[in-house]
Amino acid sequence: MDFKTAKATLYIDLENKEILGDIEYSFDVLKETDSIKIDAPNAKFDYLRLNDAEYLLDLPNMPKFVGKIGGANLKPSKNNILSFKYKVKPNKAFYFLEKEESHQVWTQGQGKYTSNWLPSFDDMNEKIEFDLSIIVDNKYKVISNGKLTRVEKSKGYNRWYYNMNKPMSSYLVALAIGKYDKKVEYSKSGVPLEMYYYPEDSLKFEPTYRYTKQMFDFLEEEIGVPYPWQNYKMVPVKDFLYAGMENTSLNIYSDAFVVDSIAFVDKNFVNINAHELAHQWFGDLVTATSGTHHWLQEGFATYYALLAEKDIFGEDYYYWRLYEYAQELKAQDEAGQSTYLLDPKSSSTTFYKKGCWVLHMLRERIGDTAFKKGVKKYLKKHQFKNVNTDDFITEIEKASSEDLSGFVNKWLVSSELHYNDLKKRFFAHKAIVKTKNGIKIDSTASRSYYPINCEGHEQICKVFLLDSNDSFRNAKIVEQLSEEHISKSTFFTKDIKTRQAIAQTLTDIPSELKTDYESLLNDKSYITIEIALFNLWRNFPEDRAKYLNQTKTIIGFNDKNVRILWLTLALITEDYEPDNKSKYFKELTGYTSAQYGFEVRQNAFQYLDQIQACNNSCKDNLKQATTHHNWRFKQFAKSLFGKK
Ligand SMILES: [Zn+2]
Repeated sequence: MDFKTAKATLYIDLENKEILGDIEYSFDVLKETDSIKIDAPNAKFDYLRLNDAEYLLDLPNMPKFVGKIGGANLKPSKNNILSFKYKVKPNKAFYFLEKEESHQVWTQGQGKYTSNWLPSFDDMNEKIEFDLSIIVDNKYKVISNGKLTRVEKSKGYNRWYYNMNKPMSSYLVALAIGKYDKKVEYSKSGVPLEMYYYPEDSLKFEPTYRYTKQMFDFLEEEIGVPYPWQNYKMVPVKDFLYAGMENTSLNIYSDAFVVDSIAFVDKNFVNINAHELAHQWFGDLVTATSGTHHWLQEGFATYYALLAEKDIFGEDYYYWRLYEYAQELKAQDEAGQSTYLLDPKSSSTTFYKKGCWVLHMLRERIGDTAFKKGVKKYLKKHQFKNVNTDDFITEIEKASSEDLSGFVNKWLVSSELHYNDLKKRFFAHKAIVKTKNGIKIDSTASRSYYPINCEGHEQICKVFLLDSNDSFRNAKIVEQLSEEHISKSTFFTKDIKTRQAIAQTLTDIPSELKTDYESLLNDKSYITIEIALFNLWRNFPEDRAKYLNQTKTIIGFNDKNVRILWLTLALITEDYEPDNKSKYFKELTGYTSAQYGFEVRQNAFQYLDQIQACNNSCKDNLKQATTHHNWRFKQFAKSLFGKK
């Protein structure tokens, strides 16, 4: 049985949180059979037609629907049509949310199965061209896979027609519904880059989508295969399960990554965007046949995202991130939890970070030209199909004329990390050297990272810090120095990340550094402001009102980190605006409600718990949070609720 196309019309009932669907599948029969299998665990069917004949449905009540068409012997044939109507109230993979008194809907197919809302195929080896048309209340925008060809209007409703022209696995089918505006840019090759945002976030548009076009152009050039889909859409959603998801031509991502230009410094969408974009080739164009080859998706997306970031932030950044990935792998190894890359049960650290390292090492070994040639051939040969690790290695071996079996055994099949090999080859350890003129970084060898170890070398590190402008290393050094070594006013003249590291390390503020430390409140970093406000408030009780007045209008990240801390401190600071205390308390408690994203709620719950002020309305919200669809938040709420 070979399924070719699916044309689905879905009516999304926002009030009843229900979907009414009508689907037409076309397929070829390759071998005579008497049954057709489509996954649809919770759908109710009320009509089914095969070619010209209508069939009565007698569906067994099974966890996975297997539709048996009574007595239909299907002989080998082309272009058969199977159509049916269904109704479903999805309990996963499709989420109905409220956001500021309006609705929002989004889907998540990977790990959850699209068949929970769209009868389709849980097996990712079945690739189909899905064309969705979606009917919904005309107050909302609809975004789905492929190209929007038209919007039909009818009393209070719009019907949005999306069209794909290439096949994909069912887990990559997606839609998002909500109140959105969008701006479109075009890549060098002419692909529309559609960037969606909430209407109230127009000022956050630029920092959120900064570098999108540059990364797109870079990846198309670097990978050497044209972007395979009609457009690339990016849509932020509330309470998402992950950071982002690479649905075909549609990156749905957490709105926690919607940032203003101050937030950008500490947290931004760049890496997530590049990662999901890289998946459009590695994952969507070629899809792993099974979990055993999952690294062909995650390792590649992690590696290519890092290459795109190298193009923006430079080589130091690139090698520093690789070094950090290696430290994560090392920590996993030391905890006795190393897994091998081709183990379908590997941790994400292995799939993402070790996968990335494998590609980095492979390229270092065979050179840029052979690597790029092999990757290009691999994609071209298997495009719109499924792949395994051999398919990739075969092309790389051909392109490089090298036998890679030793490499594969050591890095893909063995669960041993071989950290010392990485260290010897990629990290130099005599980072700081003494010269006639003082102390500097040894940069005689390139293409690697130089970690700086200050243990036992505090004086050298201090001297280095005094005249270094290397912001990566400065921050790393400050993190390793103890408070007594940081107590130097000149360190405050450094860049924003070094100052942030000072704020984090120096929690007991010596009085001679008070003025310097106060200047941190003016830094353009919400992390620095949050930490500095708390530490100043704690160290200098006599100036609490001054610090609170100075930071009164700052909200912070989308999780309102500064505002929620501010409200808490304002409430517990005696004599601070006594007339406004009940207003502030109401605002803080209000942030625990489901109207807000779970990140905001989690902050509010935490602070209210710390000041023992979670009242009945807060407790009700907490109880409700224990059933949230985001399992991390749910766990958090459950453990806090258990305390109460
Ligand atoms: Zn990924």
